Amino acid sequence: MPGEVLIVGGGLIGSSIAWRLAQKGARVIISDAGTLGGEASSAGAGMLSPNAEFDKSSASRDLGLESMRLYPSFVEELQAETGIDVDFRLFSPHDGIVDPGALLRALHCACESRNVRIIREHVTSVEPRDHSAVVIAAGAWSERVRVPNVTLPAVVPIKGHLIGFQLEPGALGPTRRLGETYVLQRSSGFLIAGSNEQDIGFDRTVDPAICEDIHRRAARLFPLLENATPVQRWIGFRPRPVEGDGPHIGRVAGSNVWLAYGHYRNGILLTPVTAQRVADEIQATQASA
Ligand SMILES: Cc1cc2nc3c(=O)[nH]c(=O)nc-3n(C[C@H](O)[C@H](O)[C@H](O)COP(=O)(O)OP(=O)(O)OC[C@H]3O[C@@H](n4cnc5c(N)ncnc54)[C@H](O)[C@@H]3O)c2cc1C
Repeated sequence: MPGEVLIVGGGLIGSSIAWRLAQKGARVIISDAGTLGGEASSAGAGMLSPNAEFDKSSASRDLGLESMRLYPSFVEELQAETGIDVDFRLFSPHDGIVDPGALLRALHCACESRNVRIIREHVTSVEPRDHSAVVIAAGAWSERVRVPNVTLPAVVPIKGHLIGFQLEPGALGPTRRLGETYVLQRSSGFLIAGSNEQDIGFDRTVDPAICEDIHRRAARLFPLLENATPVQRWIGFRPRPVEGDGPHIGRVAGSNVWLAYGHYRNGILLTPVTAQRVADEIQATQASA
């Protein structure tokens, strides 16, 4: 593909699109403002649960199920390219987990070995004419990027807390969840309990009272946690679209700008399908130009 594709944001969404595009022979650059994926993508728990997360018969659920179908081959391909184990496990065809931090490392490694340029830069505005395509994938910050003649759909940060415990590997078994509360365990034994939702902007404070509440709720699901002490507590910002039922994925009509943000509670689940759709569309557009 001619010219360079600019991707704003190097979380799971931006990095996976970059990888898919680079596999197709595109020249790609990722600009990330921070520690490259150090926001929602590394904060997330890693549940892959389309049936539990979405309303029955909704377009979002169909998207989630499609992404779930893509997950095994996505992970297999990524692990074959990088040798990085992303701790992907399925408990049933529609219920699994993955380690989002490992997934990010693998994607960045795959991008680097395919010569994706990665730069640390806070992008305030982009000029689409300077690029073969532009992808806005800046999570909860996406709306703040200025693009001439384009009004980006609004997105709000929904803060969530998680707490982590170090337990014996295999202590939990499959993920348990009830309403807002869930517990899942990585192969290493690290157990994550979540969560809550707050619409209070980009407040990075970790609230001890909320963490204690999550601990109490999680112990009802998994009593072994009652006397366990959390070894980690952290927060992240889920990018929730202000309008519409699902993420903004696709081309802004009449432009070479693509949107890939607003994945809210399910960006880890929706990574494979988002990457495939956006990369395929960009390739098809450029092939026909
Ligand atoms: C507590 C919590 C639990 C979650 N659990 C799950 C789960 O179990 N399963 C699931 O599927 N999803 C889960 N999610 C949701 C999931 O983490 C997100 O939907 C997903 O990570 C969004 O990915 P992203 O790449 O769009 O955004 P991000 O990971 O936030 O990446 C955006 C990137 O853009 C960069 N950026 C921002 N502004 C600019 C700028 N101006 N210029 C350049 N770069 C910029 C940032 O530095 C960042 O690296 C959870 C989220 C949270 C917070």
